[in-house]
Amino acid sequence: MDLGLADKVAVVTGGSVGIGLGVARAFAREGAHVILAARDRDRVVAAARGITEEFGVNALGHACDVATAEGCASLIDAAGRAFGGVDILVNNAGTGSNETILEAPDEKWQAYWDLHVMAAVRLARGLAPMMADRGGGAILNNASICAVQPLWYEPVYNVTKAALLMLSKNMATEFIPRGIRVNTVNPGLILTPDWIKTAKQLSEGTGGDWEGYLQSVADEHAPIRRFGTVEELADFMVFLCSPRASYVTGSVHHVDGGMLRSI
Ligand code: NDP
Repeated sequence: MDLGLADKVAVVTGGSVGIGLGVARAFAREGAHVILAARDRDRVVAAARGITEEFGVNALGHACDVATAEGCASLIDAAGRAFGGVDILVNNAGTGSNETILEAPDEKWQAYWDLHVMAAVRLARGLAPMMADRGGGAILNNASICAVQPLWYEPVYNVTKAALLMLSKNMATEFIPRGIRVNTVNPGLILTPDWIKTAKQLSEGTGGDWEGYLQSVADEHAPIRRFGTVEELADFMVFLCSPRASYVTGSVHHVDGGMLRSI
């Protein structure tokens, strides 16, 4: 199926590794040009170079912290200058947490709010008008199953991802008159390099069976009894951003191997 993405321009935050890199590669495979944003300059530039070499599209690696107003402004500016505008924004940059409500300081709440919510607000404010000028576009927010089914060790993550879900719904209603669709994906367990690193660390003291550790996590949480691959999620995300999903807006999609326990 041709997704109709050739020569579109997609911004992917957190595009240097893991899910974001997989999404950027999936866009590039469809002939879209991509702008990857992440803080580590060397890694994001190398990721963009790898995409250009593999798929022959224009790929820009832009170093910035999207949890700050300045970082978002620099990304918006870079997108406008490099490509003359954008068609797609994937708000993917994010990270897990580990705390109790009683112990987490205000600063931690603020930092996660800025990363998971304000980045999406600020980037939409800057990029949605560019999309409208090009006849419309798509915004996809990567939240988490934790937005609706919390893991109790990470309340700050759960709450800020739930806020992203509500933001997404509000954006969808406000932006559709401008031809911009806004949706959310809630992934479950997706096997990224970071999960593998964590599994190796946690299994060090028990013989180093990190694959066994990951299997135990999958067995506990996901009826499908395995992690999803980055590619399985990325293909779905890219479809949602494509004209093939033209009637889909304001919706939330779980990509979680059955992990969500409610209907
Ligand atoms: P990774 O930790 O592998 O990658 C995170 C990416 O975001 C990196 O490119 C990182 O680069 C970038 N990033 C982090 N903070 C910032 C920042 N302040 N500004 C700019 N870039 C930033 O994460 P995953 O691929 O696992 O996860 C991606 C998203 O998917 C996250 O939002 C996560 O919550 C969500 N998710 C993941 C699941 C999973 O099982 N993996 C499940 C459910 C949701 P750098 O450090 O250089 O800035």
